[in-house]
Amino acid sequence: MEILQSAAALQAQTEKWRRDGQRIGLVPTMGALHDGHLRLVQAAAAENDVVVVSIFVNPTQFNNPDDFRLYPRLPEADAALLEPVGCTALFLPSVEEMYPQPSKLRFDFGSLEQVMEGAHRPGHFNGVATVVSKLFHLSRPHRAYFGQKDLQQVAIIRQLVADLSFDLELIIFPTVREADGLAMSSRNRRLSADARQIAPQLYKALQLGAKLLEEKRPVASVKNDVLQFLAMEETIVLEYFEVADAHTLQPIERISKSQDVALCIAAWLTEVRLIDNLLISDKGL
Ligand code: AMP
Repeated sequence: MEILQSAAALQAQTEKWRRDGQRIGLVPTMGALHDGHLRLVQAAAAENDVVVVSIFVNPTQFNNPDDFRLYPRLPEADAALLEPVGCTALFLPSVEEMYPQPSKLRFDFGSLEQVMEGAHRPGHFNGVATVVSKLFHLSRPHRAYFGQKDLQQVAIIRQLVADLSFDLELIIFPTVREADGLAMSSRNRRLSADARQIAPQLYKALQLGAKLLEEKRPVASVKNDVLQFLAMEETIVLEYFEVADAHTLQPIERISKSQDVALCIAAWLTEVRLIDNLLISDKGL
């Protein structure tokens, strides 16, 4: 596995692969890798000739300076995990390499970013769209891999790819969970032992909501029950729980037939913010 640190090196390598007819898979990450990331890399390795994994804790997508400062950074351990799962090249740029100058371009995704993560983390999706666009331009992948864990990010990137005509296929991978249901996340490493024990309640809340909706209970009453369930755990400070259309992300009051529905949650467990979601649809994304 090669480690590339400059944008020019990534461009040169991927251009050469393209000329040689190699299919390129890209897996963008912020590192502190877990099994969720590694499953994405394995999927990319199975479907492409070469796989680029990027690890970059992107400052422009953090609205909270503490979250950026405390985000786990483990490049050596990450590199050791990547080689055996089929990563061909690890792109590990510095902030200066990705942002030689502060970017002035601003993305506006309209209603897609006026809810949930976009509403609670101002500027977050602008930073995501900026860095993902840079990665797409630098590596020109045939396929790019993202996790359903970040459902709103998936919708934003789909829009980005469509609006800017990126010539690539997006592959969305289902959420990988711990045995107790907690969605794997790099931020789980920052949970205290107590908070870690309570964290699976977020998934339990989503499952409760899904069960009630499948029983055809009205959305408002389902939300109410889920909020009451979460209120029993004082370590969990809920930021939002939404029942939304899985594609437009807009909140739903009444579910219509054949609508893909997503239950989405964000909550603080002491000083760590976690998100999760559950789709009520057999089709996936
Ligand atoms: P991150 O490093 O958190 O930015 O995540 C990098 C990619 O891995 C994103 O596309 C995430 O959606 C995806 N991802 C993160 N956690 C999981 C998980 N538990 N299961 C599947 N994909 C995930």
